[in-house]
Amino acid sequence: MAVPLLDLTLQNAPLAAQFQELFAKTVATSSFILGPKTESFEANLAKTTGTQFTVGVSSGTDALLLAMMALGIGPGDEVITAPFTFFATAGCISRLGAVPKFVDIDPVTFNLNPALLAAALTSKTKAIMPVHLFGLCADMDPILAFAKKHNLFVIEDAAQAIGAKDKNRPAGSMGHIGALSFYPTKNLGALGDAGACSTNDPELARTMKKLRVHGGERVYFHDVVGANFRIDALQAGFLDLKLPHLAAWEQARIANAAFYTQSFAGLPLVTPTAPAGMHHIFNQYTLRIPDGKREAFRAHLTAKGIGHGVYYPLPLHLQKCFSYLGYKQGDFPESEKAANEVVSIPIYPELTDAQKQEVVQAIKSFF
Ligand SMILES: *Cc1c(COP(=O)(O)O)cnc(C)c1O
Repeated sequence: MAVPLLDLTLQNAPLAAQFQELFAKTVATSSFILGPKTESFEANLAKTTGTQFTVGVSSGTDALLLAMMALGIGPGDEVITAPFTFFATAGCISRLGAVPKFVDIDPVTFNLNPALLAAALTSKTKAIMPVHLFGLCADMDPILAFAKKHNLFVIEDAAQAIGAKDKNRPAGSMGHIGALSFYPTKNLGALGDAGACSTNDPELARTMKKLRVHGGERVYFHDVVGANFRIDALQAGFLDLKLPHLAAWEQARIANAAFYTQSFAGLPLVTPTAPAGMHHIFNQYTLRIPDGKREAFRAHLTAKGIGHGVYYPLPLHLQKCFSYLGYKQGDFPESEKAANEVVSIPIYPELTDAQKQEVVQAIKSFF
């Protein structure tokens, strides 16, 4: 029996009638952009992010861009982040003319190692962008303390982490702004592209709402240069229909992860662990396969029909487009090691017991 890495149809099929009703109503009213559907979703989402405000936008990438624009980050400013993440994290910094300043990750959590912040600080440092990778929050207390001490902004890349918590504080609520993604493979996925920013600062919320519509509160009068970061009313509506199910989906992911971790005990691989006080929501369940065995392991899973993925095979400091930053192989050994060892396996909420057994058997048979 083949097990796919992810099967979105299982999650969306039971909601199809509600989606179709929403679609028909939207066509009937022709209210396609922002509007009451977006306001309703933003209010409900704010309960999940535990923030006073959320601002619905066109994608997670645009949420990161909008957050940095609202904080005035621009040419020459340095933004500290980790090189072991999805491209958008650093891509957005670069697109604004700012400079991604990488620091290595903690090998246990795969997240930015706060002990390395001090060495990356310069007079140009404007912000820190911790990523809550795979659904586990970065260690926020030392990051927040460092930022406060040096008067830096904190933008959380919470694209993979809706619902995750660090000492009961939800992802997206701890920094100045959080950026969420509703790309279909995220824990809360739209039926297309969408994202959101979260904040507790009313001024920042207002600025982001303005920048989302080309920088003007009144149409055709522009105080600042913004962009089109608007969310579709349909996507906001679909997300609002899915949001009440998020907690149950999250519980299923956590249960699947617990089953795997228990089943893999004793095997020569490393299972994901969450430090005390961290609530991991397992957007990915990511193993480390040490000793140069990762590619053989992947070939074995492929032969057994077990879907898997490598997030991410090349750290950002070694990407061609960032060669201008002057980093080289060996600069961030933990990120480079992780890129050579990680494999993510099926963790989606609708996995059956038989499928999970199949995954476990396939992995045990490799060793
Ligand atoms: C998905 C993701 C993004 C970008 O979100 P999109 O909605 O795909 O634009 C940014 N950062 C991280 C860590 C992500 O996983």
